[in-house]
Amino acid sequence: MYALEVSQLHKHYGKHRALDGVDLSVGAGEVYGLLGPNGAGKSTIMKTILGLQRPTSGSIRLFGQEYDRSQLVDVGALIETPGLWPKLDALTHLRIHAKLRGVPEAWIDETLAVVQLTEVRNRKIQAFSLGMRWRLGIAIALLARPKLILLDEPTNGLDPVGIREMRGIIRSLADNGTTVFISSHQLTEIAQVCDRVAVLVAGKTRYEGDLDGIAGDGDLEEGFFRILESSGSQIR
Ligand code: ATP
Repeated sequence: MYALEVSQLHKHYGKHRALDGVDLSVGAGEVYGLLGPNGAGKSTIMKTILGLQRPTSGSIRLFGQEYDRSQLVDVGALIETPGLWPKLDALTHLRIHAKLRGVPEAWIDETLAVVQLTEVRNRKIQAFSLGMRWRLGIAIALLARPKLILLDEPTNGLDPVGIREMRGIIRSLADNGTTVFISSHQLTEIAQVCDRVAVLVAGKTRYEGDLDGIAGDGDLEEGFFRILESSGSQIR
């Protein structure tokens, strides 16, 4: 069963084709990486799944059903940096979000534990590192116990320790049955945590499968660049 299926998705801005026929199938419970250079269309896909943008054509299915906005109650997302109040502590953030979304308070402690923020739950956000802020953003996205979570460029701005913590959290989410759909232009930072990946170039799916299929007999990064080159993409 697929948590998310995207078929022949197009999004045109005037003459510009941001998405030009994207096909993806994300299995339930897997960590799926959407890889591609800047401008490939990754954020446009995320926003379209979340109903923030209308596609020009094509279809999206969530949890085996035709797309319907009511299914978004089972989808959590962290797109760009989370909106946080510097003078409030982590626990207060989660209490506010729990109230807004009708989530029982009892779920807050469990969510704090998943993102390893229990010990600093009473600390104000202004004293949080970027990695801790990212983890609180994830906690907010996880609070309503979504079946699918979308993470757009989660490694942006994180140091190597933060990136390693992030990978650990993503893995533990998948181990608990949450499907994780994650976008990145940094292959090496997320590759290790993904069960399968798609490579998106100029709005088209150029590869979908496991990492071995990219690396072939050689190096993963070289395989990735080969896909970009064969798609006519400039490497930056
Ligand atoms: P990045 O890694 O830089 O975030 P991305 O893969 O997420 O890139 P998108 O942000 O989805 O790429 O953008 C895809 C293309 O669509 C880009 O060429 C971008 O300039 C264009 N684009 C995105 N939003 C709009 C918009 N509102 N109007 C016009 N063009 C847009």
